[in-house]
Amino acid sequence: MSTNHTSTSDAEPRPKAVLFCPDCGHESGLPGDWIVDEGPNRTTHTCPACDATVEDRPRPAPALAP
Ligand SMILES: [Zn+2]
Repeated sequence: MSTNHTSTSDAEPRPKAVLFCPDCGHESGLPGDWIVDEGPNRTTHTCPACDATVEDRPRPAPALAP
């Protein structure tokens, strides 16, 4: 069955911004206790527990108008 349901997904559940360390399994939200290193193209998060680098892919951040 094909139901043409044009739903404007406007009320999406807020995404859980949580990073996981692949090395030790440390997890923390964003912003959490990660050591954030903001580069020109990407933001690198370093695990505070084992010092592993957890790279976070740059997302097209919505322009927040004041
Ligand atoms: Zn770690």
